[in-house]
Amino acid sequence: MPYQLVKFTCKYCGREYRLEKNAEEHEKKCYHNEANRACITCVNFQELNTEPVNVGYIKVVNAEKHCILGLDETFDDNGCTIKSLNNHCDGWAKIQ
Ligand SMILES: [Zn+2]
Repeated sequence: MPYQLVKFTCKYCGREYRLEKNAEEHEKKCYHNEANRACITCVNFQELNTEPVNVGYIKVVNAEKHCILGLDETFDDNGCTIKSLNNHCDGWAKIQ
């Protein structure tokens, strides 16, 4: 007997949930939600090239994203870690 599967998707990052309340909880703390002022949505979080490193005959430049205000601290794959909703970054500015 087939059944219909309903899923709820975060409108900021596309993550999927079976329960609407879990999706709503996630959206409140989603890094991609500008309301959370996370690095990934901030204009000050920019790609900076590190000093070129010689690997054999090849010069390798690693591009990493950093906060140009130096306010970034804890990072994960998504950008930065929001420890709590009261811990939003004061240096956050909207990407134009
Ligand atoms: Zn999300």
